[in-house]
Amino acid sequence: MTIFILLISFVLGTIFGSLFNVLIYRLPRNESVVYPGSKCPSCGHKIKAYENIPIISYIFLKGRCSSCKTKIPFRYPIVEALTGFYFALCVYAFYIKNNPDLSILNIKDIVKTIEALMFGSILIVQSFIDLDWFILLDSFNYGGLAIGLLFSLTPYGFVDIKSSILGILFGGLLPFSIYYIYLKVRKMEGLGIGDIKLLAMIGAFGGVYMVLGAMFFGSVIGLLISIPTIIKNKNMQYYIPFGPFLSIGAIIWMFLGNQIERALWI
Ligand SMILES: [Zn+2]
Repeated sequence: MTIFILLISFVLGTIFGSLFNVLIYRLPRNESVVYPGSKCPSCGHKIKAYENIPIISYIFLKGRCSSCKTKIPFRYPIVEALTGFYFALCVYAFYIKNNPDLSILNIKDIVKTIEALMFGSILIVQSFIDLDWFILLDSFNYGGLAIGLLFSLTPYGFVDIKSSILGILFGGLLPFSIYYIYLKVRKMEGLGIGDIKLLAMIGAFGGVYMVLGAMFFGSVIGLLISIPTIIKNKNMQYYIPFGPFLSIGAIIWMFLGNQIERALWI
């Protein structure tokens, strides 16, 4: 039964991942999300339903458009698989682990699982848009902030309303002071305004500690990944989008924050 639920969660995740691919492609281009249906960007071939099955179609089409044989970016099945794994992991970590007896529904853990799914979904879409365009969408930052606040109003959210509001203020103000000092001292933006809004949204979901966790893990992973590039380019001003790293940091904290807090005695 557990395996079956995890499998369903994975498949559901890949379907959402397929929708996220559409959002990632169309939202920054200001194109409508619902109309028209998907087309090959090279030849305009209308993508048929059976060519649009997450992951499977990519494999069957051998990664190429069925009409003009243009390569389909490998990113598409990656986003689908990533979302699938994320959904299955959330259902396991927030529900199945605490409720091995699946015959009784635990509302508290269902709410937490849905909160985790929505939080991660927003971060996945934002991260891939940031990788492509170096922007984070305000609609997702503000929308996510509102969703995080709403969950904190229920008795079952990640944090209570007080922690959520403190998280928003902390996530917005601390990075903003870093941004301001950087701008004054070095006359450059050390951190984008979009990243600051993203941190405020992360604070709405997970409070002050999640903001700190996202900044810590995000910086460490970002640094490790950018060191080879900086060495190769001999350029310290090399710019990498920070949004994906902050997102990974926030997700690490979402899954492991409790253990880390206990280990550090905070
Ligand atoms: Zn084509």
